[in-house]
Amino acid sequence: MAETIKLSFPEPDIALLTLDMPGKGANILSRATLDELSGHLDALDKQAGLAGLVVISAKPGIFIAGADLREFMAGIDAPKEQIVELCRRGHRLFGRLSHGPFVSVAAIDGVCVGGGAELAIWCDRRIMSDGPKTEFGFPEVKLGLYPGWGGTVRAPRIVGLGNAVELITGGESIDARAAFKMGLVSDVVPADKLLAAAVGLVRDEQASKQYLKDRQAWRAPIGLSDTELGFLGATASAVIRQQTKGQYPAPEAALETLLETAGQEAEPALVREAQGMAALFGSPVNRALLNVFFLTDRNKRDSGVSREGVAARPINSLSVLGAGIMGSGIASAAVKRDVPVFLTDARPEALEKGAKGVLDEVAFNKKLKGPDPQKVIQAAGLLHATSVDAELAASDLVIEAVVENIDVKRQVYARLEPLLRADAILASNTSTIPITQLAEKLKSPERFVGIHFFNPVRRMKLVEVIRGEKTSDETVATAVAFAKRIGKSPVVLNDGPGFLVNRLLLPYMNEALEMLCEGAEIKAIDRAARAFGMPMGPIELYDMVGLDTALYAGQVMRDAFPDRIGASPLLADLVKAGRLGQKAGAGFFSFKNKKGKPEPDPAIDSFIAACARGKRAFTQEEITARLFLPMLLEATRVLESGVARDVRDVDLALIFGIGFPPFKGGLLFWADTLGAAKILEMLRPLEPLGPRAAPTPMLLEMAKAGTKFYT
Ligand code: NAD
Repeated sequence: MAETIKLSFPEPDIALLTLDMPGKGANILSRATLDELSGHLDALDKQAGLAGLVVISAKPGIFIAGADLREFMAGIDAPKEQIVELCRRGHRLFGRLSHGPFVSVAAIDGVCVGGGAELAIWCDRRIMSDGPKTEFGFPEVKLGLYPGWGGTVRAPRIVGLGNAVELITGGESIDARAAFKMGLVSDVVPADKLLAAAVGLVRDEQASKQYLKDRQAWRAPIGLSDTELGFLGATASAVIRQQTKGQYPAPEAALETLLETAGQEAEPALVREAQGMAALFGSPVNRALLNVFFLTDRNKRDSGVSREGVAARPINSLSVLGAGIMGSGIASAAVKRDVPVFLTDARPEALEKGAKGVLDEVAFNKKLKGPDPQKVIQAAGLLHATSVDAELAASDLVIEAVVENIDVKRQVYARLEPLLRADAILASNTSTIPITQLAEKLKSPERFVGIHFFNPVRRMKLVEVIRGEKTSDETVATAVAFAKRIGKSPVVLNDGPGFLVNRLLLPYMNEALEMLCEGAEIKAIDRAARAFGMPMGPIELYDMVGLDTALYAGQVMRDAFPDRIGASPLLADLVKAGRLGQKAGAGFFSFKNKKGKPEPDPAIDSFIAACARGKRAFTQEEITARLFLPMLLEATRVLESGVARDVRDVDLALIFGIGFPPFKGGLLFWADTLGAAKILEMLRPLEPLGPRAAPTPMLLEMAKAGTKFYT
């Protein structure tokens, strides 16, 4: 086994443990690394005359990125006692850092989170670099867990219960300045002075012996009155409930442990921590969130093509055609990551507005609540508004985001393609037109690809990279690499109507309208979707997307799948009446109030009455089944037809594209928790709906064979 922690002695009485996992970009606490740490501590404990131990990392920008989650996954079904013992082993090991016959100091440069933060917090002292990547945090709640190696016991004793509650239940990292302010670190210094400062700290502590007093204090209960505890508990739990809506149990469990153990000695508190952690470990939400972690991790590594040795071309300049909502969003994302952008529009006033929008967005400063002048100057140097085709065609990548009209798009390509360099890539941001069809008249369809961003580009991480029939692997790999470079998570798909996200969203949206016409209440439909975990209900979503846009997207899908998607007279009527949603001040809801928030609007009743096919009560369970099962069936069709390459792409795309609840792990991950046989059973009452709710061959086969989407 390769060495991951190196022991050296920068001074005769100072031991230095340097973490440097060979061949890895980050240090991770695996079982082997922890064993190594244990071995080093055995040796150091025996060494006479040692004044201090400094723990540091040799990796730039990373102290320790946390525990090894693959090992976690391997033990996900382990009995609870085993998990308690795993935590207790961590307590015993890290506890040695504050029991040894020397002062221990964690010298932190870069990311220090999860298990790494726990190792650091067991040291007598911490010191941090002022580097831009330096952060400290307990993100365990984001995986449905809480710190189980002493974090919930050490943190409140060192930084105070209030700070610890915020750090552990919120899961957000803090920078060196905030860490210093809350007393977590003794000093903040430049990275190249970190070791010297840590050694200096050892000397100071040996002179003052303050660390020995702190060791004693941090083993004792926290001195808070019942009133103080009660107040903190009530306010923190209100904040948590508002954020988690009761769907993520870990923050509440962490709070409970923190409050319960505040009045205890550290040792029994550690036992309680271990028991609480064991209860969360392997829970459905923990499993789901671990799946999301692995989906994201896989996505980061995915080149987008299965063939080995396909190199992405470097993209050092971008042109964006169309400076509307999407074009200016794409341009902003690129400028933010220092990619020079040439932006154009057929209408000079649209170009002016779009370019201004880019600068406003890129230079926006949260604190100033407006543009930062320095950033405006920087961004202006990268953004070139132009109407000269030769300038636009000189870029490595040209993304077209003009109006959704095939003729207009084709005219643009016909004009620009002859001017493009032989290795440049042309892409479309179309949301509905097949990529293969758009490529039909191109001379080099192999260098044409769909790069479908989502609105608002600023917030939406998902990008669908769509491969036309003739798109080359190099073009796909380049589009994927570019999307990642500008901070997005690209999912590669084969061409098909609605690509992936819109195709799966449509049956769900469509079903919501069907239920309205069958007599379900708007409120009940939206409530069921939210209770399932969606960020908003489908009816609210119609108003946000725009009813005209939804109507058009529906038509495209209806043309492609006429047996499954019917025309909704309700949507057409509302569009005809100008009720286009939020942008028009009214859709299903009214937005004509001071805050522009959706409010129930009685005027909608007559529209629903016109499409009514009866009036009956719907249970929440029925609404949930009607919304999500057709979406799931569509996902199996997408997999059957090869539009998506992998179940994990489907799940990731839905989480990032429509806010499918992460605590369910993804649509197909959720389906696996039910099993195909159970899904068939749930589909049975929907039989009268016809083909759109009929089991697909894939699902039937899975039920027969007892297989799952995730293998
Ligand atoms: P938009 O109307 O805001 O902007 C389109 C811009 O293209 C307009 O400013 C228009 O003047 C310009 N334009 C028209 N013809 C042009 C030409 N020949 N040359 C240069 N510019 C021209 O539209 P949008 O919402 O930004 O959509 C643009 C594209 O992105 C469409 O293909 C759309 O389907 C797709 N898209 C939209 C969204 C969305 O939510 N709005 C999401 C994903 C994809």
